[in-house]
Amino acid sequence: MSARRAAAAAAAGAGAGAAAGAGADRARVALALGALLLGACAPLPRYSDLAMSQRPSPNFNERRPSFVVLHHTGNSNASRALGTLTDPATQVSAHFLVERDGAIRYLVDELKRAWHAGPAWWGGPLDMNSASIGIELDNDGAEPYPKAQIEALLALLADLRQRYRVPAPNFLAHGDIAPGRKVDPGVNFPWKLLAAHGFGPWCDPPFDPAPAGLDAGTLLGALGYDVSDYEAAVGAFKRRFAGTESRQMDEEDRSRLYCLLLRKWAARGD
Ligand SMILES: [Zn+2]
Repeated sequence: MSARRAAAAAAAGAGAGAAAGAGADRARVALALGALLLGACAPLPRYSDLAMSQRPSPNFNERRPSFVVLHHTGNSNASRALGTLTDPATQVSAHFLVERDGAIRYLVDELKRAWHAGPAWWGGPLDMNSASIGIELDNDGAEPYPKAQIEALLALLADLRQRYRVPAPNFLAHGDIAPGRKVDPGVNFPWKLLAAHGFGPWCDPPFDPAPAGLDAGTLLGALGYDVSDYEAAVGAFKRRFAGTESRQMDEEDRSRLYCLLLRKWAARGD
């Protein structure tokens, strides 16, 4: 419905309300009418220097993040991590920090661009900071993740998925989008458990064999990895999906990759 037709319909409703003597209804309709007119007429902020005329449309809402990127802080305690993530000199941040005991710290407005991903690639180069929510897990990179921390993370991820409809394959490790540069959240992170809750794809053996002729590099690239450094991409894949630190691909890995690719392609967002 156009803004003008909606306004006319609202005005017609106001007339009926007045006839029935429903003052509260009349006030509500007047408010809605005012909001409609205001929304339709408010000038748009200008970002471009190009000559153009405005014709503001009322049909929009906020952009929403399409990815969630998980990190570990590399710190031994949360207060040090909080200091780093809030110090203007470091130029790094994340939207959330989940502490070892499950406490969740909210650091950057979810709708703003936190500085957590850096140069990134997932299916192509992209400004992941603009496209994602960043979550830091306080972890030194070698220790196991405590149950309370993972339970809090699962609750946070479920909340984000419900509000932003983040597609299941788009829950990523920092190591996935920056192979060779980043390894977090590390080999100890329980991706299989996350996948069981619908966050990220997962495949367990035995696998159906991958078709002959599809080499591992092609499959890694199709899944999303930057394969310009093939060995680094293999390392990121093995860390995430096989739970090992290795840069060796075998036939089972190729079949695992093919299974993950089919799972990713089967997922649908909205
Ligand atoms: Zn990171």
